[in-house]
Formats: sequence, C-alpha cells, structure tokens
Amino acid sequence: MNNRIDVNHVHVAFQTKEGLVKAVNHLSMSFEKGKVTAMIGETGSGKSVLGLSLLQLLPDNSLVSGEAFYENQNLLTMKASEIRKIRGRKIALIPQNPDTSLNPLLKIKRQLLEVVTGNHRQPIKTAIFNELKRYHFTDPERVAEAYPFQLSGGMKQRILAAAATIRQPEFIIADEPTKGLDVLLRHEVYQIFQQMKQDTHIGFLLITHDLIFANHIADHLLVLYAGEIMESGPTQDLFTEPSHPYTKGFIEAQPYKSLTPIPGMPPSLIHLPTGCAFHPRCPYKKTLCQQEKPPLFSVNNRKVRCFLYA
Ligand code: SF4
Ligand code: MG
Repeated sequence: MNNRIDVNHVHVAFQTKEGLVKAVNHLSMSFEKGKVTAMIGETGSGKSVLGLSLLQLLPDNSLVSGEAFYENQNLLTMKASEIRKIRGRKIALIPQNPDTSLNPLLKIKRQLLEVVTGNHRQPIKTAIFNELKRYHFTDPERVAEAYPFQLSGGMKQRILAAAATIRQPEFIIADEPTKGLDVLLRHEVYQIFQQMKQDTHIGFLLITHDLIFANHIADHLLVLYAGEIMESGPTQDLFTEPSHPYTKGFIEAQPYKSLTPIPGMPPSLIHLPTGCAFHPRCPYKKTLCQQEKPPLFSVNNRKVRCFLYA
C-alpha cells in the first residue's frame, strides 16, 4: 500500500472571470516507488496542475475533486496541518525554476538546514555535506557558504535535487526540471535524475515536455491532452510505436524529430470540444469522435483513448 500513490478521477478547475477553466478532467493514474513515471504533453495539458494538486499547492481559486491515495489517506482532502507533515518529508517537490525557488538572500547552508528535520540521525551538518557530495560538489563546505547568485545554473539545479532528497522522501514530484535550460544544463539535469534513480528507491512523477529526457529516464509514460490521459504504457513501446494520433503528432513535432507541428491549437479549457478532446486537430476523426468521448481502450500493454482502438 505504501509503495504507490493512486490517483482516482481527479478533476481540477479554476474559477476565472472568463469562466470555469477545466485543467484536469477525471484523471486516474498511479505511480510507484523505485520507478519513474513521466507525464508529457503540451503546455496547458494539465501536467503541472495535477502534480501540484497532490501536495495541495494550487492557488485558492482552484476546485479539486477526486482521490489521491497515499498510505490510505486522500492527499487532496487532508487538513493543511496533515499535508504539511507529508510535503517534503514523504513526498517532495522539485520545483520548476531554481532562480525563483532558491531564496537569493540566504546561504545554501541555511536553505538546506531549513528542509532538514531535527530528528535526522546524523548530525545535520554532516548530512548536508554528504548530500552535497552525492551531487558531485567536491567542496561542499564552500558551496554551503555560498549565496545562490554565486552558483551556476547547473549547481542550483543540483542544490534543488539535494534539498528534495536530503530528507529521504518516498516520492518526488519534479515539475519541468529542464524547462528553459540550454543543452548542456539539460544534460546535467538528466545525469542528476539518473543518479537519483540509481541511488534511491524513490518513486518519481516527472512532469515534462522534454521527450528526450522522458525517453532517457522514464519507465512509464502518460500522455496528457486537455487534462486527460490519451495514452499510457511502457516508455520504450510508446516511443517506438505510438498509438494515439496525438502521441504520434507530439513525438513528430519534437525538435529532434521532423519538427512538424500538429495542425491547430490545443482547445479552450473553458469550452472543451464535445466527444474526443483531440477531434478538432485529428486527421483520423470520424462522426462518432465528435459525438462521444472515447474511453481508454486496453491495447496490449498500454491504454489508448481513441476509437481507432475500440
Ligand atoms: Fe482522432 Fe477519433 Fe481517435 Fe479522437 S477518437 S484521436 S478524433 S480518431
Ligand atoms: Mg507546467
């Protein structure tokens, strides 16, 4: 039971002046300890919203329903005092941007001290230095005394990873850890995650639009579109032979592939299309696709939300 987080029919909407923005639509999935599950999809597909909802980190105008079970407790409905005990300690977040996630006014030592609990068995200083060494800081004492502006982008990424793993959480939710980084930095992040995967038994929920990264590290892939899972299955299978028309289009649109974009735009989350959410952009659509929402069909070892696989 402790080995996974089970998400059942999670629905997240935001109340805005323009109307109700339906960001995540009755989404069910699970992720396990010791595995990397990657959620991929375009901006606005609901990846980050789902991830942040699990730690109750969404803004006040959000309406969340459904269940996300961790040790028989629903993370979505826990009291603030209870989720605070889990956040960071049991389920940690690696946030998107090190420049906005690290406090520019505090030395690294102080920022890491803040995340370490008092009941840590090792003396805290040793724990911090050991954690920094794990992320290839050869001179952890000097790094601990530094302010974020004295560190490179890659170093800051490693600090964020160290801050997440130092309390030995069971799960980590990583929100677009390679977003906006140049090629070199991206490769550094790939290595950091590879190392975390090797050294720990943490379960990762990796939120990314970086398919090279997902392909490199994820065991399992979930493809999101308009807040729904369109396809899920083992990473290698999905990359070698994508089934869903959206997965095919999304993989083809990547810079390392043909860069052929999917025609059209993602739908308005206020006025979602009838039937299949992808039908306005789908080259294979039939009349049924505009009338009925396809369920997730089981095809071999994967699930596909498309009538072509009925
Ligand atoms: Fe395309 Fe229809 Fe499949 Fe949707 S259900 S992806 S519109 S073929
Ligand atoms: Mg996002």
